[in-house]
Amino acid sequence: MTSDQAYQRIDLHTHSTASDGKLTPAELVNLAHEEHLDMLALTDHDTIAGVKIAQQAAEQLGIKLIPGCELSVAWNKIPLHMVALGFNTDCFVIQHWTKRNQDVRLQRGRQIADLLCKKGLPDLYNKAIEEAGESQLGRPHFAKVMVREGIVKDMNRAFDQYLGNKRIGQIRDVWPQLEEIMPDLKASGCELVLAHPKRYPLTVTKLKSVLTDFKRYGGTGIEVASGNERPDHVRFLERLSRDYELKASVGSDFHGPFGPWTQVGRFTQIHEQEVMPIWYQW
Ligand code: AMP
Ligand code: MN
Ligand code: MN
Ligand code: MN
Repeated sequence: MTSDQAYQRIDLHTHSTASDGKLTPAELVNLAHEEHLDMLALTDHDTIAGVKIAQQAAEQLGIKLIPGCELSVAWNKIPLHMVALGFNTDCFVIQHWTKRNQDVRLQRGRQIADLLCKKGLPDLYNKAIEEAGESQLGRPHFAKVMVREGIVKDMNRAFDQYLGNKRIGQIRDVWPQLEEIMPDLKASGCELVLAHPKRYPLTVTKLKSVLTDFKRYGGTGIEVASGNERPDHVRFLERLSRDYELKASVGSDFHGPFGPWTQVGRFTQIHEQEVMPIWYQW
């Protein structure tokens, strides 16, 4: 661990088995407790199925659990991730949009399988569905099947050769546009955070256009640190947070204990006094 990284007492971006994480919601909360976290948001891709169980586990352990969800959205046909935080799990709006994206995931899964068939692979749809089980179907499930079937050596190669954004380019345009989804969610009163802004294939100019629109349609926050983010990138994102008057969020984007660089509560240190931390309200 470098001096720029630290185990911190909050984490507002994590995944469980409800989407593509390795740990069940209860296991994740237990791990957060072992790591001495005070506050945790569970933010599975396009589902809030794990939130209630996580809430129960957190209550027993004295951790503040913030309901969350990482929604797949689009800006000018470019896929982005938006983290919704602090909603009520009974909220109709969050239920509507997660359900809609879950339907999109199934249709997209079929499209991905068809595309892989065209590239000479067997039809992996049913196996990917089986792999996903109760969780939200995503590219990681296809990647796991491809490794198990001996088509590729590991998950990274599955993404590099078949599943990365450039490879499945023609089926990227499936998610709701910011202007469709954001005003609705904003009206329900939750925080809307642009996730890991440095991970998109966007120039600085384009990223600023995204932020202008994001703010216009009701965005309230920006992730200034996501996992093992470069410190100079964090300084840049802190600046954007101030310039666009977006509250600062932070998180590990934990998917499982895969190595020393991913741990619950671990992300590059931020300059907290220079931004408006989104978690101060909780
Ligand atoms: P999806 O939500 O179906 O679009 O899949 C995106 C997810 O795939 C991300 O949230 C990551 O968890 C995972 N992912 C992206 N790139 C890679 C990679 N190179 N290796 C393993 N997992 C990846
Ligand atoms: Mn993921
Ligand atoms: Mn993401
Ligand atoms: Mn994530």
